[in-house]
Amino acid sequence: MLIPDRGAGCSLADSITPEDVRLLRESHPGVPIVTYVNTSAAVKAESDICCTSGNARAVIESLGVERVIMLPDEYLAKNIAAETKVKVITWTGHCEVHERFSAGEVRQLREDHPGVVALAHPECPPDVPAEADFAGSTAAMSSYVAKERPPRVVLLTECSMSDNVALQYPDLAFIRPCNLCPHMKKITLGNIRHALETMQHEVTIDQRIAAPARLAVERMLAIR
Ligand code: SF4
Repeated sequence: MLIPDRGAGCSLADSITPEDVRLLRESHPGVPIVTYVNTSAAVKAESDICCTSGNARAVIESLGVERVIMLPDEYLAKNIAAETKVKVITWTGHCEVHERFSAGEVRQLREDHPGVVALAHPECPPDVPAEADFAGSTAAMSSYVAKERPPRVVLLTECSMSDNVALQYPDLAFIRPCNLCPHMKKITLGNIRHALETMQHEVTIDQRIAAPARLAVERMLAIR
């Protein structure tokens, strides 16, 4: 595995360390730890199971427990908690792109673009999905657009992700309040090419971390 720019990080992944996870486990004995995939391998290795924004509720409910710890995205955890009876203990990580959206911005978009259908990613603060017409992962938003074909639509998510969906539906009008991720923008076609030509920078993960991290991912993949 190669990473074209070593400086390309993620505010969510940077919000929590393996030591934090161990301390949380000590503070909540016996409570399973569900970790979002936007985390380091070392954090996954300390977790019981991973989740994505699309399967978080199914993962949490598959555990058959009353309480879970969900890391690291506070807003994703709160948005999922609103959909399930399982009590969700949260961490304080945020995606620096999605945390910038607000319910006021959704209302302003509706005023500026009458009839617009607003779709929100669950990494947004909870008042944003509450104000939107639909909330879901990027894949779920794309499916919503495919099924409902709203003539005017806005995707409250990272700008390039929204652009990818817009490309599939050239006949629909996409409103673009562009919140770009500075980390994702560090990966370019140019540095991908350079990485492949030079085989740099190789990512290596110690087996003592890789094995338990893989297990957390595989447990997630086993859930249907
Ligand atoms: S948009 Fe950027 S900061 Fe947010 S989760 Fe993705 S990589 Fe991390």
